[in-house]
Amino acid sequence: MAKLAVFDFDSTLMDGETIDFFAEVLGFKEQVVAITERAMAGELDFYASLIERVRLLKGLPQSKVEEICADLPMIPGAQEVVNGLKEKGYTIICFSGGFRSATEPACKKLGIDADFSNFLHADENGILTGAVGGEMMYSQAKGDMIIRLQALLGVTRENTLVVGDGANDLSMFAHADTRVAFCAKPILKEAATHCVDVKDLREILKIV
Ligand SMILES: [Mg+2]
Repeated sequence: MAKLAVFDFDSTLMDGETIDFFAEVLGFKEQVVAITERAMAGELDFYASLIERVRLLKGLPQSKVEEICADLPMIPGAQEVVNGLKEKGYTIICFSGGFRSATEPACKKLGIDADFSNFLHADENGILTGAVGGEMMYSQAKGDMIIRLQALLGVTRENTLVVGDGANDLSMFAHADTRVAFCAKPILKEAATHCVDVKDLREILKIV
């Protein structure tokens, strides 16, 4: 029986919000963190706020982005949960409203099967333009993507596990019978079947 596990990236697999790490380098961390917090609590539309936050990144060299992304801290137990779920026969996918520059190297390192995320536009000199694009740019994006993956892989919602921490994970929670809110915002906990409140992804292996 085919099984699917979908993880959010920022604050679920990775210990923080990618854009906050960029903002720290550029020296406007507080401004960005405040917008991120409101977005993740569901007070601001996540994707509208994403566009606003990325606009602040204009002028950051792509090389700096890659340097920061190569060194992002993972949540404790990230490697173990990927290994453990693979042993149980899961296909493991990452959905992120964040950026491919961050999800791609991290997912490769962890052995995650595929990642779906957005990308930061850069000009011909490799400097960020402040624009963002991609397949995860609207509030139902993760929900729409999980339906397509389930059809492609022949996986039912009974055999689907989703793990996330924020309001932008709600749309994918609607299509899985096992829904883990990981150190999550209250709005996501309400929609979850399981809440993990310790920062250790190995806890998920006790659930599945
Ligand atoms: Mg998140």
